[in-house]
Amino acid sequence: MLSKRYSFPRASLFKLKPVEITARDGILRKLADGTYGRAERDCAICDSREFEKLAETDRWGLPVSTVICRSCGLVQTNPCMTEESYRAFYRDDYRWLYGAGSELNSPGFFSYQERRGGHILNLLRYTNILPQIPSRSVVLDVGTGSGGVVRAFEKAGYRSLGVDLDHSCLEYGLKQGLDLRKGSIHQLALNERPALILYSQVLEHIVDVKKELARAKELLSDDGFLFVALPGIMNIRRAFKHRGDFLRYLEIAHVNHFTLRTLDNLLGQCGLERIAGNEEIWAVYGKTTRTWVVANDYLTVKRFLSRTEQFRIVFAVCAGLRAIVDAGLDWIGRLLKGSVLDASARNIYRRMKFGHQKNAD
Ligand SMILES: [Zn+2]
Repeated sequence: MLSKRYSFPRASLFKLKPVEITARDGILRKLADGTYGRAERDCAICDSREFEKLAETDRWGLPVSTVICRSCGLVQTNPCMTEESYRAFYRDDYRWLYGAGSELNSPGFFSYQERRGGHILNLLRYTNILPQIPSRSVVLDVGTGSGGVVRAFEKAGYRSLGVDLDHSCLEYGLKQGLDLRKGSIHQLALNERPALILYSQVLEHIVDVKKELARAKELLSDDGFLFVALPGIMNIRRAFKHRGDFLRYLEIAHVNHFTLRTLDNLLGQCGLERIAGNEEIWAVYGKTTRTWVVANDYLTVKRFLSRTEQFRIVFAVCAGLRAIVDAGLDWIGRLLKGSVLDASARNIYRRMKFGHQKNAD
């Protein structure tokens, strides 16, 4: 294990609201009495069974066993709740543990998702991928929630639709007239193949992720793009949310944890190759016929996590300082908006953030 802090039982890292305590205690009970069943699994990427344990608990003090594969370096939950148990977890506990409850159907959450859609559009624009997606083509958002991302792409001139397993999430977007469908992409029937498929903060939740991506590739048009955004392991020192603490990063709903290399391994095996991306993680993939050889990221990831744990106080201070600088840059950006300096400032920012991304490794 990374250190004693990662052993079970332990208290939650955060002070929880009453609704979250009720949810957490309910999940603890269901895991203990077998209501939520767990099973050992092969590595989600390379099918190996050679694992090393990193942690036996998550940020909430729930018994979540996190391991790293020695053959490819993928960090993953193992044993993992069965798909049936995860379905029950998402239906009954997920939203309450995450403190949102019924807010997932609110105008506030929809606006948050729409802003996230705008951010994805910017990433695609700055990496020159958006001009390659014809207007009026189909954009599919998987795990769409209330559909705010779908709205953002509609406004940008695309025929956008979303799918989600949870019907109660879809209600708000359906009332806005969006094309949202209940279910997974395995049940989805389309007249036209999407030119872009979005997995924003979704892929890390899926247990059989190779099966999911094989279906996504089948649906995607031949010259289409697949966009992935998820919390990257290598970004935990930079992200204020994680502040250099891997325990803050671990949560029961996330079953696979990626670096850019392990994500490339996964998508490469499914016949998809990276066009752009970074360790935050956001990345764009296109179809390829190249045979992918899995590169082992074990040593890099293990060394990174051990070092991060060793110096986590330093990284926490740095993450705090970085948040202050970012807030300052945001403030300057708002001040410059509409002025003659606005375009130049945006150009410098774009070069800093995206200029080196093409073919980056
Ligand atoms: Zn593996």
